[in-house]
Amino acid sequence: MSRDVVGACPLDCPDACSWVITVDDDGKATKLRGNAEHPHTRGGLCVKVNPFLEFSRDPSRLLHPMKRVGAKGEGRFERITWDEALSTLAERLEHILATDGGDAIWPFDGTGTVGYLQGVAARHRFWNAIGAARHHASICSISGHVGISYTSGSAAGMDPEDVVHSRTILLWGSNTLTSNQHLWPFVEQARANGAHVVVIDPIRHRTAERADEHVALRAGTDAAFALGLCHVIRSAGVNDRFLTERTSGWDEFAESLDEYTPERVAEICDVPAEQIIALGRRIAAHGPTAIKLGQGMQRQRHGGQAARVVSCVPALTGDYTRRGGGLVYSTGDAYGLNSHKYSRTDLRPGNERTLVMTRLARDLRRTDPAVKALIVMGANPVVSNPGQRAVREELGRDDLFTVVFDAFQTDTADYADLLLPSTLQPEHTEVMDSFGHLYLNWNEPAIAPPGECVSKTELLRRLAKAMGMTEPALFASDLELAADLLDTPKWRDAGIGVDALRSAGFLRVPGTESYMPFAERFATASGLFEFASDRAEADGHGRLPSYRPPREAADDASGTFALISPASHFFVNSMFAGIGRNTERSGEPTVTVCAADAENNALPIGELVSVGNDRGSFIARLVVGTAARPGVAIAPKGAWTKSYVGGNSVNATTLERDSDMGAGAVYHDNRVTITRIAG
Ligand code: SF4
Repeated sequence: MSRDVVGACPLDCPDACSWVITVDDDGKATKLRGNAEHPHTRGGLCVKVNPFLEFSRDPSRLLHPMKRVGAKGEGRFERITWDEALSTLAERLEHILATDGGDAIWPFDGTGTVGYLQGVAARHRFWNAIGAARHHASICSISGHVGISYTSGSAAGMDPEDVVHSRTILLWGSNTLTSNQHLWPFVEQARANGAHVVVIDPIRHRTAERADEHVALRAGTDAAFALGLCHVIRSAGVNDRFLTERTSGWDEFAESLDEYTPERVAEICDVPAEQIIALGRRIAAHGPTAIKLGQGMQRQRHGGQAARVVSCVPALTGDYTRRGGGLVYSTGDAYGLNSHKYSRTDLRPGNERTLVMTRLARDLRRTDPAVKALIVMGANPVVSNPGQRAVREELGRDDLFTVVFDAFQTDTADYADLLLPSTLQPEHTEVMDSFGHLYLNWNEPAIAPPGECVSKTELLRRLAKAMGMTEPALFASDLELAADLLDTPKWRDAGIGVDALRSAGFLRVPGTESYMPFAERFATASGLFEFASDRAEADGHGRLPSYRPPREAADDASGTFALISPASHFFVNSMFAGIGRNTERSGEPTVTVCAADAENNALPIGELVSVGNDRGSFIARLVVGTAARPGVAIAPKGAWTKSYVGGNSVNATTLERDSDMGAGAVYHDNRVTITRIAG
């Protein structure tokens, strides 16, 4: 008799789909499908994940621990035993702890899996117990979170499912059909009820094609566009009562809008003034308006400020207090899990150094102390980090001991001293929240790990033992770790512990059945929506939300392009991107420009071109398409460097520099030239 096991997709995607794996009598997974019972994901997975079982059985899967035998970066390894791997790692960490201290050890968790036990959602307690440096996971969305925190206090401003009640929907920097596809049926339901759907994005992607309106603004000018909308709404009709009773600083902010006339904003954003006026009036008159804010727009020098400004739009109309109105960037804040109890920060010996994920090369150059051990888990920074050349140089250092814990030999794994085989989602226990809905998923292991693969939690239990550690918390089982996560009043008072979640497979976050988080008060210290913020001013971001130009994106220098590297339709980040079938179906790396730009710059359509700047370059095939507005080049991220002619990918051109808030990455604030390849 076969059996069905409920789990969840582990990838870095807001949908956090519930799935069902059928397992036969021999313990083999025979089928993967979406869980039709899940109220949000409703039985669907996606093109990226439908072949998950096939990927997990790919012949290139890592099955045994290995040690490096070639030069760093060469990718030559030989098999060793787990005993040898663990004793090597334990001895190295003990030596570093004795000579340089925990600050010289960098546990580098990536977004390959975003769960709590095996992924990046919470820091495992082992690292706190040895006092390793903290890892600031800045690669994805941090700038937007910080920006929004200054106004409303939380990025979870509405239930995304409530867009069915919206009359105007702004999909802002969100290619919903590719990167948040389970929201789309709710959008379509709203549209069937008469809602107007607008995509605001420099790229005319699949979602923009399907929307009622597309605002193809100049890259990096989102804040100016939002201020232009606010300017129009100020005249067309604001919600005076809401502004008086529920906000602070409105008069100051309103006055600052004088300079953002539609004509000036049209110039900044390169969109028609009429479009700004019409959309502003629509928002004023045809609410509630829902804004689904994607991460792409905040990967700019002033990305945090941009998200801060956009969050002001629903405050002018009071839409934050109307069902179907407001802004959602991430629903993560709604979950209230006990990360502290899971991570056991109380075990830390006292050192507090933080190293920043998107500053990998720069922080590896620090000498206070120098990082001596880099433990990469679920991350592929050679592909995913900005500043590819510098990252490779630092990973190639002889004095850096690098461990890569992964299911495949990624581009980063080629630099490992120890390469350790990890389980994948069907083979381990996991707890998954979502940043796109309000259900908590349980992932039950469906099958035994192949070869000698182990989960992250098991690896760290074994490592604690190998290092002679005795703290009982380090040997907690996965079920005990999950119980610690759920040990908060929110979940306890609802009677939800591990058993309840495990038997249900997924559960809605208690208290969110009718989720309007700002109906009574905002999540700021004052409880008000703060147009003006003393805290932002003290932090150097200005008292009022404002437009600040990007570093490179909006320059429009002749013959150069703002390079945007959006998500591929075939993989999430770089997960499985180098697996045979994925490289075939995603095709060779491309860079897309509009026909006019190709002609004006005499670019060779259909041929390989070099895309680059003073940071580096990569080679891709030049494609002409309507997705790119003038001045923009599009090169999807995620493909492994092994897929590129010349061995460099998009991030050879990006800048390892912090955004304005939270040390976020600035992937899309990137100017390149495109040139023919001689010969
Ligand atoms: S990548 Fe996203 S849409 Fe695809 S299965 Fe995973 S959670 Fe669902």
